[in-house]
Amino acid sequence: MTIAERDWQAAVAAIEGAGTVVITCHLHPDGDALGSALALHGALVKAGRSAVVSFSQPFEVAPQYRFLPGVERLIPPEEVPAEPELLVCFDTGSVDRLGSLAPTFQRARRTVVVDHHGSNESFGDINLIDPAAPASAVLCRELLRRLDLPLDEEIATDLYTALVTDTGRFQYQSTVPETHELAAELLAAGVRQYDVSKAVFETNDIRYLRLLGEVLGRITQVPEASLVWVSVTRDDLKAHGIGMDATEGLIDVVRTDGASDVAAILKEQPEGGFKVSLRSKGGTNVAEVAGRFGGGGHALAAGFTSGRSAADTVAAIVGALADQPAAGNDDGAAASAPQRQTAQSEVASRR
Ligand code: AMP
Ligand code: MN
Ligand code: MN
Repeated sequence: MTIAERDWQAAVAAIEGAGTVVITCHLHPDGDALGSALALHGALVKAGRSAVVSFSQPFEVAPQYRFLPGVERLIPPEEVPAEPELLVCFDTGSVDRLGSLAPTFQRARRTVVVDHHGSNESFGDINLIDPAAPASAVLCRELLRRLDLPLDEEIATDLYTALVTDTGRFQYQSTVPETHELAAELLAAGVRQYDVSKAVFETNDIRYLRLLGEVLGRITQVPEASLVWVSVTRDDLKAHGIGMDATEGLIDVVRTDGASDVAAILKEQPEGGFKVSLRSKGGTNVAEVAGRFGGGGHALAAGFTSGRSAADTVAAIVGALADQPAAGNDDGAAASAPQRQTAQSEVASRR
């Protein structure tokens, strides 16, 4: 861990000394964001402490995370105290990613940022940031230990869900022996791991599966950029009667194209424009690519929003990839697409 001992101590003192702790995470929360926030909240309220947990509008939990213990305790962002004494946020690389709770963060008297994004701007008063951690939940677990707050089955299930989703079921580069040790500790605390797998990975709406068939029929390779991409439009969703939140797993299918290092999905937004997800298998720093378009993320999993058309957005990504140095290349020399495809990344961190 790269987090200084004094930062851990400062975070523990701040949480132990606060009357009410406001806990939040990034907007459109994924398993790591929600699982970490709910775990700290559950541990505090079970210890008799005053705490609230919330996230930005649109205040909707994606269907696959509605089983998470404590999800019913989430309160809408409008009900969060306007000027929190202490705000703790998880899995959030920059303040704008707090969405409609960003002003609340800025008004909070003290803030603790717990995160594993390499691009994190250390925007809290106290920052617990470790880009090598495979999930924010790893840092949340350590925080609970230092706060002397015990695990139970519910808290462990929140943390396990965070860990299993951010590591892609322990398959990504960030997985190390300690990741499995933590998983073992959580299972020993009572997690029914197949219930988690079933809810998160094995429960799709049949309408999503049909949309998948159609969308994958349009998948496109750009060999000179070692890129594979696909778009999901509002018309696709309308035709199949499902919401965009059902498509979270789509990128994990697209990225399996064996000929491409980089995968992109363009998701058309209700207000127009696209939310773009980027993944690399190790040859490209996609956080850098996303950063050029005002987004961010991890070296191997990143995203941004685009106001351009799908074709223009893809052309811009191809342009950015063309002058992208290969990840892990010591000399930093620009790599051609085939080189990028085979380059070995030293970068561990993902989501
Ligand atoms: P996603 O593709 O939405 O699963 O996101 C992958 C990673 O990129 C996550 O770590 C996000 O935090 C980050 N990310 C996605 N979209 C953005 C954005 N617009 N700005 C900054 N980071 C983003
Ligand atoms: Mn996240
Ligand atoms: Mn994360």
